[in-house]
This record gives sequence, C-alpha cells and structure tokens, in this order.
Amino acid sequence: MTNRQLCVVFDIDETIAQYHKKPMKGELMRLDSYRNADDGSVLYFRPGFRQFLELKDPMGPKGPAVPIELNIALGIWTYGNAPYAKYVERAICDKFNLDKSPFRFVYSVDEIREDLRRGYQEKDVRRIMESFPGEFTEANTFLVDNRPANVHHRANCQNGFIVESFDLNNPKYNLNNDRMFSDLKSLCKCIVKNQHRLPINNPLFSKNNIKLMCLRKYHRKYKVGNEIKEIMSSETVDEDENFIRVQGVKQRTKKGIKVKVQRKITHKKK
Ligand SMILES: [Mg+2]
Repeated sequence: MTNRQLCVVFDIDETIAQYHKKPMKGELMRLDSYRNADDGSVLYFRPGFRQFLELKDPMGPKGPAVPIELNIALGIWTYGNAPYAKYVERAICDKFNLDKSPFRFVYSVDEIREDLRRGYQEKDVRRIMESFPGEFTEANTFLVDNRPANVHHRANCQNGFIVESFDLNNPKYNLNNDRMFSDLKSLCKCIVKNQHRLPINNPLFSKNNIKLMCLRKYHRKYKVGNEIKEIMSSETVDEDENFIRVQGVKQRTKKGIKVKVQRKITHKKK
C-alpha cells in the first residue's frame, strides 16, 4: 500500500496567530508569542499550536505523542503579502526551535491574485494539487481558515475547515474555551486512521467520506447567499448576512428555498 499523505493548509491571521503592533496588556503570559526585536510588534500564537506541531513530529522533544504514525504535510496560505508570510514562517521556526521549516509551501496574496486572474477562486486548493501532482490531491488536502469566504466557494467547500477567529481584541472570544487545535488534532487522527478506506477520487470532506470517518459532528449547514451548503467547521464561526448557520429543515417555496434560521443547535441522533 502506498504511504498516503495528509496536507493541512493554514491561514495565518486569526487562525494560527494574531499580529499586534504592541504587546497586549493583561494576562497573556500563558500564550506562546514572538516579539520582533526591531519594531516591538508581537505575534501571539493560538493556544494548542505548539502541541499541534509536536503531533506533526512525533519524535519531537516529548517523544512519540500519538499512537498512529501521522504523515501530515503542512502549508501556509495567507491573504497577507509574501514578506509577511515568510516572516511568520521564520517566527514559528524561531519560537519553537525548529531547525527546518515545518511548512512544505508558503503562499500569500500573490498566489490568490494570480489565481483570481485565471478564473480560480480565493485560496483555491486546486493550486496546491497542481503544484504537487499526485502527492496532494482533493482526497487528502484541506484548508483551515477563519474566513468563511475562503472555504465556502465551490472549489474549497469540501476541502476546508472553518474555525472560530482567534481574536484577542474581541471580548466574545474566550481563550480558555479555545478548542480549535484540539478539534483539529482529533480530526487529523481520524482522517489518518481511516485514510486507507477513502476513495482516492473523492474530495476529502465529501458527504460519503464524512459518514465513513464518523465526522458528522463537524459537518454543519450554512446558508451561503441563497444556497444551503454543508461545510466542515468548528462549533462557532464568524457569521454575517452572507454566511449563517441553519437548522437542517428546508422548505421549498415558489420563490426558492426558504430556510429556518436557528442559532442554537442541538445534536440529536435520528
Ligand atoms: Mg484569517
């Protein structure tokens, strides 16, 4: 059997880190951060990022952390510019004492602009598949992003995971309840464990794959414009009038699809 690979592509801002021009006041000592000695700016890393990197390297300082061998490739794709993307990559290496970058590729807004010009969409995962043919495919690659619009479009909606914004400026964000990386860790473990059972030509988060991997708890319905889409996401995400979580009841009317919008959702087994 071939050694199958999983590729996790991270957005930077408000997904894995938050950039601040000055250090924040208050009790943020517990957070991993990287201070730029030249301008005094600080990059705060999301809780759990360090542990996630250790998961990626099971022979890291703490020894084998997971029972299954995880073959995870990481990438970065930011809406920021290329120097910023490279800066964050260096900051991560520096902060976590990594001799070698943990990222196979680092993309920025340059790649997004180029793709938009050729009719592709924002952070279109097809670019990754074209750059690493046969290695990264729609069956093994997904984007982790706090901005729904990067994920809910046609090219990415079955290859993305929308997460809550890591936003230290938002009073609603609660550092102690941030489960993003722990969810992602169990998601990755689950994919790796089941990968040999997944068809090679289906998108990673196709409905069938989700059923097969028992990942339905992350598969949520959203109203995107006038469409209802099922997308992988964490419990809370940034919603607005163009992206609203819905209860699974669809009512067809003459004018189109009418949906019942409900914010509080309970997961009941049918
Ligand atoms: Mg972001």
